[in-house]
Amino acid sequence: MDQITLKRIELLHPKLRDEALAIYKEICTELKGKAMCRFAWTFRSFAEQQQLFRQGRNGVPGSIVTKAQAGDSYHNYGLAIDIVLIKDTDGNGSYETASWETKADFDNDKVADWMEVVRIFKKYGWEWGGDWKFLDLPHFQKTFGKTCMQLKAIRRTQGGIDYPNF
Ligand SMILES: [Zn+2]
Repeated sequence: MDQITLKRIELLHPKLRDEALAIYKEICTELKGKAMCRFAWTFRSFAEQQQLFRQGRNGVPGSIVTKAQAGDSYHNYGLAIDIVLIKDTDGNGSYETASWETKADFDNDKVADWMEVVRIFKKYGWEWGGDWKFLDLPHFQKTFGKTCMQLKAIRRTQGGIDYPNF
């Protein structure tokens, strides 16, 4: 298992940590080690989100990467995960190459590795950004029926803590 991913699972909302670990273990079994899955983003603080939002706007360098301001993303509550596949291209045992190829079948089992990951998340009741009108293929979220606006309000009543209780 990817140690970076295990650390990032610990940054998720406490309600989701155990489940995300179970999901990750299933993914690792399913992909059989030819390519691994890494959770590229889990929790993103309000400050980090706002910094990301500013990128590419009002003269800030970089290209626009998000439409979401602080509090408008489920990542800001630790309720979302973005994945990437990592490959050991040179065969030296370290997974050094990132891949966002959603159709690649690195483990040769006739199912794209990306879609194997999607199936596992969905089995646990997570939404996939690949089902949306504006595709966000690496993104998964579990919202517990709460909108970001509701979560923002709950967070405010709890003194702006990172993982609001609900
Ligand atoms: Zn995301």
